[in-house]
Amino acid sequence: MTPTAIRNFNADACLEIDWDDGHHSRYSHEGLRVQCPCADCRGHTPDQAKVIRGKEHVRVTHIELVGNYAVRIEFDDGHNTGLYTFTQLRNEIV
Ligand SMILES: [Zn+2]
Repeated sequence: MTPTAIRNFNADACLEIDWDDGHHSRYSHEGLRVQCPCADCRGHTPDQAKVIRGKEHVRVTHIELVGNYAVRIEFDDGHNTGLYTFTQLRNEIV
């Protein structure tokens, strides 16, 4: 699956993605931040994973496509290393 449109709504703190198979996804900024898949947040093994709290007010400031498999999302808390693969966005991130 590939996104055909990505829309960011800072006032509603949500991100919407339209997919080429007709599916529509809607994610909260907080949810994207606390589920960040980067190694810093997830650790290299499951026991290293951090529980991320206190991100209720975090906002997405920038989104860019990475190749044809992921988007990189920057947040206003300064975090910008999360690469969200399309597969993760469809199957894991809620
Ligand atoms: Zn992260």
